[in-house]
Amino acid sequence: MTDINEEHKKEMIEMKAEHRAKIKAKKRSERGLFMLHTGDGKGKSTAAYGTLLRALGWGHDVAVLQYVKGNWKTGEKEFFKRFPELVRLEVMGEGFTWETQDRERDITAAEKAWEVSKEMLNSGEYDLVVLDELNIVLRNEYLDKEMVKKGLLARHPRTTVIVTGRNAPDNLIEAADLVTNMDMVKHPFDNGIKAARGIDF
Ligand code: ATP
Ligand code: MG
Repeated sequence: MTDINEEHKKEMIEMKAEHRAKIKAKKRSERGLFMLHTGDGKGKSTAAYGTLLRALGWGHDVAVLQYVKGNWKTGEKEFFKRFPELVRLEVMGEGFTWETQDRERDITAAEKAWEVSKEMLNSGEYDLVVLDELNIVLRNEYLDKEMVKKGLLARHPRTTVIVTGRNAPDNLIEAADLVTNMDMVKHPFDNGIKAARGIDF
């Protein structure tokens, strides 16, 4: 018994030393990161808002721009509206494409939203900017993906940006510091269960 305990202790000491050495070899990021959440599984937006919650905990300045979901009532939007001094929230003017069914109007709304995004990214006022569902707008070719990539990379050094949405374009995957692909293993929707308040929106 004592042997096992001794061995465990020795292993843990070694592990701790290894871990310390690894951390020491890394440097603190001198600028904000470009993070990308994509894939077919659930969690892209919730992970972005989870990060936002962390940033708020440290008193960071944060802003959110929701592309695509303009007219939808969502829990996060209701929450942000209650704390305008904590979170700057902007939404793209129009709702889903199948609600507007008007490509020209969608493009105009996307362009306006991109102008606001650039202002958020360049101002130097924010530690974190979330551009929720921007990938969807790019997928629909409402904005030029090279222009968006350049804009993201030209952001103020203070600012970390999180871009979410399925089907991230290759150029953003290439340019991002972090790419997480949410993998759909199971989703209740496939068992006929409707999206739920407080969980899905
Ligand atoms: P969430 O906002 O829950 O983190 P998400 O951002 O990863 O989801 P979106 O593509 O933005 O995913 O879809 C938003 C809505 O669609 C949510 O209500 C979510 O539960 C639902 N959803 C996400 N993935 C799937 C899926 N694989 N099948 C069906 N519905 C899904
Ligand atoms: Mg989402």
